[in-house]
Amino acid sequence: MNSDDARFDTRAIHAGQAFDPSTGAVIPPIYATSTYVQDGIGGLRGGYEYSRGGNPTRTALETQLAALEGGAHALSFASGLAAEDALLRTVLAPGDHVVIGNDVYGGTHRLIRRVHGAWGVRHSTVDTSDLDLVRAAIEPGATKVLWIETPSNPLMKISDVAALAQLGHEAGLLVVVDNTFASPALQQPVALGADVVVHSTTKYLGGHSDVIGGAVVFAPGRDELHERVQFTQFAAGAVSGPFDAFLTSRGIKTLGIRMQRHSQNALAIARRLEEHSGIARVYYPGLESHPGHELAGRQMSGFGGMLSIELAGGGEAARRFAESTELFQLAESLGGVESLVNYPSEMTHASVRGTEAEVPASIVRLSVGIEDVDDLLADIDQTLARL
Ligand SMILES: *Cc1c(COP(=O)(O)O)cnc(C)c1O
Repeated sequence: MNSDDARFDTRAIHAGQAFDPSTGAVIPPIYATSTYVQDGIGGLRGGYEYSRGGNPTRTALETQLAALEGGAHALSFASGLAAEDALLRTVLAPGDHVVIGNDVYGGTHRLIRRVHGAWGVRHSTVDTSDLDLVRAAIEPGATKVLWIETPSNPLMKISDVAALAQLGHEAGLLVVVDNTFASPALQQPVALGADVVVHSTTKYLGGHSDVIGGAVVFAPGRDELHERVQFTQFAAGAVSGPFDAFLTSRGIKTLGIRMQRHSQNALAIARRLEEHSGIARVYYPGLESHPGHELAGRQMSGFGGMLSIELAGGGEAARRFAESTELFQLAESLGGVESLVNYPSEMTHASVRGTEAEVPASIVRLSVGIEDVDDLLADIDQTLARL
């Protein structure tokens, strides 16, 4: 059976992961090599010449990533931001304009505003859950990219990928979806019309908080763009190393089952938090009270492991909450098997303070792991008791 035709959980385990033909090793080896012997000048075995340009362990991961997202190609990078940077540098020139969501990942906003902004790239931040605002932000001729993140970070806003892709394509834009929060197990942006999907594989794809990585996945028909971004990757060099690629491939094999458990645990915790008077609001798309609940139900096959809360007691209560949990460890990042708590305004989103993307001081974000839900609920209860 060709694993490309198989269902999601089968593809996650087998795409790009065929056993090693020379030894029968079930797991393809980690090719820790910088260069490759040539059979006479230019006589390459399997097309490999130098590991900045290509490495079999990286190829295995790229095949796996493309298969999971329904893409034709994928490129694996040293980090999520390296992936975003290579894509944006390939498609933008000075004077071009980008429309991005107003609560995208803080680092994405910083990259576009400060790094690309210094080279003359302009941007507008809008609430991408409102199609009229997106339409109004597009500058005909100048806007080249529509950048969507859904669910968004940290307020878990849901944007309509299919409608935005159509709107973007009518305006001639490249439609990019950062699918890090949902992961391909829960959301398939290519099937919804996106041209390109980006990932911080550091999060759910890797899934074990032990490796930094990123990816760009190209929809079928985007072969020329793939070649251009591949050239940027080769020429600028932000590739993932073979050990990192191996760890990410290893994590991906359990993605489907992990996302189910993340979603179950997060829903249970969201419901518990929603009941408490100290919590002014719970931002979780799995709750009926969430404005994007219905859209998320159509667009996603689960609601994921991320949620945010607004403390009734404001910034001081939020800080106290974030510093009182025990099982939920206070740390940046998300998407690992272990639960984490984060105080966005001073941690992950400190870089966007004073900008349109600023996060209120009363917000705490939880990355709900796959521990036993009763232990997680007990931790939430003791934290709420201390408010
Ligand atoms: C973490 C993250 C990134 C950046 O990825 P790195 O691997 O940290 O460079 C981009 N987008 C989202 C949604 C993220 O959570």
